[in-house]
Amino acid sequence: MPIFQRKKSDGTHDAASDSGGLTESQILRALSTVEDPDLKRDLVTLGMIKNLSIDGSTVKFAVVLTTPACPMKDKIRTDCENAVGAVEGVESVEIEMTANTARDQKMAGQSLLPGVRNTIACASGKGGVGKSTVAVNLAVALAESGANVGLLDADIYGPSIPLMLGVNHQPEMSADRKIVPLEAYGVKLMSIGFLLPDQDQAMVWRGPMVHSALVNFLKDVAWGELDYLIVDMPPGTGDAHLTMTQTIPLTGAVVVTTPQDVALPDARKGVTMFRKTNTPILGIVENMSYFIAPDTGKRYDIFRTGGGRAAAEKLGVPFLGEIPIDMSICEGGDSGVPVASKQSDSAQREPFMKIAREVAKRVSMANLSQELTVVEVT
Ligand code: ADP
Repeated sequence: MPIFQRKKSDGTHDAASDSGGLTESQILRALSTVEDPDLKRDLVTLGMIKNLSIDGSTVKFAVVLTTPACPMKDKIRTDCENAVGAVEGVESVEIEMTANTARDQKMAGQSLLPGVRNTIACASGKGGVGKSTVAVNLAVALAESGANVGLLDADIYGPSIPLMLGVNHQPEMSADRKIVPLEAYGVKLMSIGFLLPDQDQAMVWRGPMVHSALVNFLKDVAWGELDYLIVDMPPGTGDAHLTMTQTIPLTGAVVVTTPQDVALPDARKGVTMFRKTNTPILGIVENMSYFIAPDTGKRYDIFRTGGGRAAAEKLGVPFLGEIPIDMSICEGGDSGVPVASKQSDSAQREPFMKIAREVAKRVSMANLSQELTVVEVT
């Protein structure tokens, strides 16, 4: 379906095609003026233009984004329409917007998670800040954007994700003796809780035990092809936590905090730990930022909103967004219907969708910088 029609001022179409001879290089030259606003490179250099065809005065092509959750999708489409539409002789432009999630170069070919393109750790310096809530809703939001998403509950101190997604039965084994992940809201789910005979035992796990249990566990799960695997890490920055960070090949980390002054030093410790293990920090999320009274609509900044943003600035890492305290978020966790899912009618869906778009953008940027580094080195 033509989505762009270049008309002359009298409303009739230009007869430019009669002159014949529109060429691919003319179109590519026009498209090389269109930049991906996040990646700060033109679409041709980024290899995002595919299936270019010219039929008379009609130009068709696909724009392959680096994530289905691209926040700039509409702008990129409009910029392409305008750039190609301005080429002499073009009367109509048909663009298919698709996505092929960029792959973390480190993940390619590694055997622990062979089909996984990117892994994102969801972490916090201390418990109770909403790390698991963010992990669940981030996974659901990315799946709703069209990505293949897995969620690994690696919080050995209190695996809670099956409950939050409304699934809590043991996973099955496939014929080739792999664990088949459970599935909810388009997200494939595995919990380390399925491994633990009882919770008290987990509390005394030390680094080496975590390492061997995790390696065995990870290589036995049939994740299939995933664009993103979200890993809900245990809270804190201790021994077990550090081992996990070193065992799971991580594309990047999202650090969740609350805005109170007492929470921020913990967030800082989290960022420092990931830096030590050379894991890129995708950004900080501030949870329980503010409260909107349901009866009056008045906003209350209970804990002095803005601490997360200020901490992000100070630490030189991106700020990914803020989420209010809201009963629907807590209820969504308890009832197994996450607020980010279409099934929820919560107004808090949008903040999570926004954070998911931001995270997807940061992953694409991290992968692009890796790719450029690889090119420069060879
Ligand atoms: P953590 O993983 O950091 O320990 P959880 O995600 O388990 O924290 O959240 C702790 C509790 O707080 C849960 O009951 C959860 O539903 C609730 N909660 C988290 N974020 C919010 C929020 N923004 N508004 C209301 N309740 C929340």
